[in-house]
Amino acid sequence: MIITDFLILNESGLYCKTGNFYIDPIQPVATAVISHAHGDHAVRGNYHVYCTAATCAIMELRYKKNAGNEFHIYAYHQNFIVNHVEITFIPAGHILGSSQILLAYNGVKYLYTGDYKLQDDATCEPIEFVEADVLITETTFADPEVLHPDPINEIQKLNQNRHNVLLGAYSLGKSQRIINLITKHCPDRKVLVHHSIVPINKVYETYGFKPGNYELYNRNSMKFPEQNFIYLVPPMTFDSYFRAKNVIRVFASGWKRLQVQNDMTLLISDHVDWSDILKMIDRVKPKEIWTLHGDGTHLKAFFSGKIPLKLLNRC
Ligand SMILES: [Zn+2]
Ligand SMILES: [Zn+2]
Repeated sequence: MIITDFLILNESGLYCKTGNFYIDPIQPVATAVISHAHGDHAVRGNYHVYCTAATCAIMELRYKKNAGNEFHIYAYHQNFIVNHVEITFIPAGHILGSSQILLAYNGVKYLYTGDYKLQDDATCEPIEFVEADVLITETTFADPEVLHPDPINEIQKLNQNRHNVLLGAYSLGKSQRIINLITKHCPDRKVLVHHSIVPINKVYETYGFKPGNYELYNRNSMKFPEQNFIYLVPPMTFDSYFRAKNVIRVFASGWKRLQVQNDMTLLISDHVDWSDILKMIDRVKPKEIWTLHGDGTHLKAFFSGKIPLKLLNRC
C-alpha cells in the first residue's frame, strides 16, 4: 500500500520519515540523498551524503572541505539500503552524474525524478525509464504552453552571422552541453570559456564526457577585432558585461523571460517541457503523481479523473 506521507516537505526539505533521510535537502541534515550537484539540490555541510561519484566530485570541487562529512558513493543501478528503504540511482539525463532516486519500501516503489530531461545530451548519461507506483516529479515547465524547440535548430542560429557572441550559461551542465553543441553544429565558431567553467569541464572529462573544443579566454582576447568567437560566461559575468561592445548578447535557457533583453533567443533547457513530462508519466505508469519544484496545477487538471495527483507543499 502506498504510504501517503512517505515523503513530506518540511523546513529542511523533502523528508522520508520511514528511512529518516532527506532527499536534496535545502539546509544541512544528518543524512542526505542527493540527486545532482546543482546548488538548489546539493547544499554543503550534510553529514552522511549518498550520491553518484560524479555528483560527489562536483560537490567537492565547489564546496571543498565543507562538501559533506561522509560520502557514500553508489553507481547507477547499484541498490543500497538506508533504514529499511531500498534506494537505487537511475540516470536522469539532466547533467553529469544526475540521478532519479528510486525508493522501494514494503513492495511499493516511489520514484523521485530530481531535475530531468528526455532530449539528447552527449555530455551526460541519458535518462532511463523505470516503472513506479508513485512518481514524484519536478514541474519547472509543467505548462502546456511550454514546448522547448529542437536544441540543434537553436544552436544553429549562431551560424546566421559572424559577430562575436557573449553567451551566458550556467557553468555546471548548461555550459558543457553548449560547448558540445557548438563543436558539432557551428564548426566555424571558436569557444572561449570563462575560467570558472574550466574545472567543471575537467570533471566531465574525468568521467568520460569530454564537452568538445574550447579554450580559456582572458580579457585581452575580447579586444581582438577577429570575429567568430563565442565567449561562454556564467550568469554573473554575463550580467556584469552589459556594456560589452561589438558582441551579440545571448543567454542559453529554457526561460523565455531570461531572453527578452538579449539580441537573440537561445531556448535550450535541461528540464522537461510539457510534452516530455507527459512522455515520462507514460513510461513510469504511476498510480499516483506527486509534484514539487514549480507549479503542478496544469498537470493536476490534465490528469483529473485519471491519475490522482498531489502537490507537495511545506507543512
Ligand atoms: Zn538541476
Ligand atoms: Zn533544480
